[in-house]
Amino acid sequence: MESGTAAKASEAADGSSANGSAAERIEVLNPATGATIGTVEADSPESVAATVERVRGNQLAWEALGIEGRYRWLGKLRDWLLDNVERIADTMQAETGKVRGDTGAELYYLVDLINFYGTRANKFIGEEAVRPHSPVMASKKLMVQHRPYPVVGVISPWNFPLALALGDAIPALQAGAAVVVKPSEFTPLGLDEIVRAWREEIGAPDVFACVHGTGEAGGALIDGVDFVQFTGSDRTGRKVMARAADTLTPVSLELGGKDPMIVLDDADLDRAANAATWGSMFNSGQVCLSVERIYVEEPAYDEFVAKLTREVGKLRQGADGRTPEKDVGAMTSPNQKAVVEDHVADAIERGARAVTGGRAADGPGDYYEPTVLVDVDHSMKVMRDETFGPVVGVMKVRDEAEALRLANDTRYGLAGSVFGEKARAERVGRQIEAGAVNVNDVIVNYVLMDVPMGGWKESGIGFRHGEYGIKKYCRPESVIVSRFGGKREPVWYPYTKSRRGLVGRLSRACNARDWRRRLGLRGR
Ligand code: NAD
Repeated sequence: MESGTAAKASEAADGSSANGSAAERIEVLNPATGATIGTVEADSPESVAATVERVRGNQLAWEALGIEGRYRWLGKLRDWLLDNVERIADTMQAETGKVRGDTGAELYYLVDLINFYGTRANKFIGEEAVRPHSPVMASKKLMVQHRPYPVVGVISPWNFPLALALGDAIPALQAGAAVVVKPSEFTPLGLDEIVRAWREEIGAPDVFACVHGTGEAGGALIDGVDFVQFTGSDRTGRKVMARAADTLTPVSLELGGKDPMIVLDDADLDRAANAATWGSMFNSGQVCLSVERIYVEEPAYDEFVAKLTREVGKLRQGADGRTPEKDVGAMTSPNQKAVVEDHVADAIERGARAVTGGRAADGPGDYYEPTVLVDVDHSMKVMRDETFGPVVGVMKVRDEAEALRLANDTRYGLAGSVFGEKARAERVGRQIEAGAVNVNDVIVNYVLMDVPMGGWKESGIGFRHGEYGIKKYCRPESVIVSRFGGKREPVWYPYTKSRRGLVGRLSRACNARDWRRRLGLRGR
């Protein structure tokens, strides 16, 4: 880990750890002030493995509680979250540098998610009775039971430290798995507090744990668990998948994005500009579904850019307390701030103009001014690579065909949005190559957990939310019960002419689609 980052590693004062080697402590900084706000002990690979084995030992009993029994415990977690909203938001705000207005979204999403899966798990992963497709097999009773992967490992990033860690743990726990989360080393405190509350304040079964550290701890977690749910950059996603290949462990990867917005000439430009402002600057632009690039049809371009520039220019940046008074917070990771500075410098060098913002903000803390770039093109990093900061590039396009060509000219495919007359915007939106498209809205697909959320192309493998978002944590086990039958089935030994003939006649009768073949005659 680099020094000067929001999280710093150092050796514990007494130099000790559970396994006798020198324990590293991770120092957590407030990106809004630079002050140290806490430390956590980094787990060694051995202690990660021990945590996985500890919760593995309790998993069967957790699974045996059934869907309702597990929902009762998750319901207690929901109540605890609701009772401790301010306390959790305080921790999250301190470790991320978010403004207060950005913290609420995570907690309300999480309580909604607990109820969503708690009330639908039976429909999504309950036992299924299946009718045999063939009358030949009518005597068999078919069922599918969905058994969880015993231990799920969740590796999460720093931009939404609770929604993306606890949010992926909730459906796994509801499915009956035990879960070990490794939060980002930049933002470990909030999740640590919740896991402690699960055990100590709620008194829930010891099937939900947290380990700390950087890539080494993440790697050890991959080695120990039975399913890996990863959210982070595509760069790390590739390493995760490669490591999981060693143990043939399945992975679900939620990776980066470069989401386009298309503004058609018949759009409500006030709504489009307000959506673009929030969609690109929400959480300081550190959102996988952020609006990172905008394509505007020529007749609407000047007016849209003027409105967007005005709205972005009005945003209040800085730190606030419990009362929401600011709009845009700090950059949580200084590494990301460096990426933002590099993208803007590259764009300016190639001919782009910042119509508002365009530089790191003065003063303490890691802030970058909300920035709108025009005169951009696809030779620039800011239109090609994930910026993940409060910066958006706007490009004028001739027509919807050019807008679509440019929107799809990317290696990413997380989501996109289109603004315009409803039917036309929907028609255009359906042609965006991504896991989701929002018509006359932005980012909203994330909280609509009814439908799958995930990436196409290099934005990921697998999806969260909806039926898939819980089923992926389970392995189907087909249960076939022979209801009746004699001492032997016709396909068993001994092979005789009459028994094989019977099988052939039955197969013909069921599968031929004309009477001649059914009767064993050749077709005409
Ligand atoms: P990151 O890839 O640097 O780190 C993510 C996590 O992986 C951290 O916990 C980190 O410690 C861990 N890690 C690092 N190296 C590892 C290794 N070799 N093996 C195992 N684990 C390892 O990502 P980040 O900077 O924390 O987050 C920003 C990225 O996350 C952006 O690209 C963003 O788009 C993406 N993201 C995606 C979604 C989504 O749902 N698709 C949501 C939020 C963020």
